[in-house]
Amino acid sequence: MKVDFAKYSDGLVPAIVQDFNTHKVLMLGFMNQEALDKTEATGKVTFYSRSKQRLWTKGEESGNFLELKSMAVDCDNDTLLIQVHPLGPVCHTGADTCWSERNHSEDFLLYLEDIIRLRKQVSPDESYVAKLFSKGMNKIAQKVGEEAVELVIEAKDDNTDLFLNEAADLLFHYLLLLNAKGHNLGSVIDILKKRHSR
Ligand code: AMP
Ligand code: ZN
Ligand code: ZN
Ligand code: ZN
Repeated sequence: MKVDFAKYSDGLVPAIVQDFNTHKVLMLGFMNQEALDKTEATGKVTFYSRSKQRLWTKGEESGNFLELKSMAVDCDNDTLLIQVHPLGPVCHTGADTCWSERNHSEDFLLYLEDIIRLRKQVSPDESYVAKLFSKGMNKIAQKVGEEAVELVIEAKDDNTDLFLNEAADLLFHYLLLLNAKGHNLGSVIDILKKRHSR
């Protein structure tokens, strides 16, 4: 990979960090040759920090390392795109990305999948999601069936509010079931995309 460090007077190339699975943009950092070499050698993303004025391995204090999945340069070799598997929240604020608010509104269903992943790990008396998961797969699947029936019932009526709320219930429990089966919305969207291209 040829990177044009000389293009910048400080020799630091911007590196866009993206989640390998969700494709969310996670953060922006800067790399010199040394940071790039260390990233490739260790498999953990290392930047040159302008504020620290030294090499900075993201996660060195927090433990939230960025596991390297792939690295590529853009069309004119002056910007890096790094795909990673993040081992925890990426932003120092504790948010999953440095643009979390924006992601929340743009890709709310993906955000909701993150929330489900987190909530199922807490105690069942603190969380509806955790409680449902503690009851097992059949119960979660059954809830999807129940919400679907409730939606069908509301479809026969003309109360918009009730209909939309049941539609939301169904979608939420559908996400829970996908998660319980070890999948996510991405897997379903992939299938829909394939069908669409036929
Ligand atoms: P970490 O590398 O996660 O152990 O965090 C160490 C320090 O780096 C934090 O205290 C912040 O000052 C800074 N930092 C961590 N994550 C980010 C980020 N996504 N963008 C900018 N600075 C960060
Ligand atoms: Zn470029
Ligand atoms: Zn941040
Ligand atoms: Zn319902």
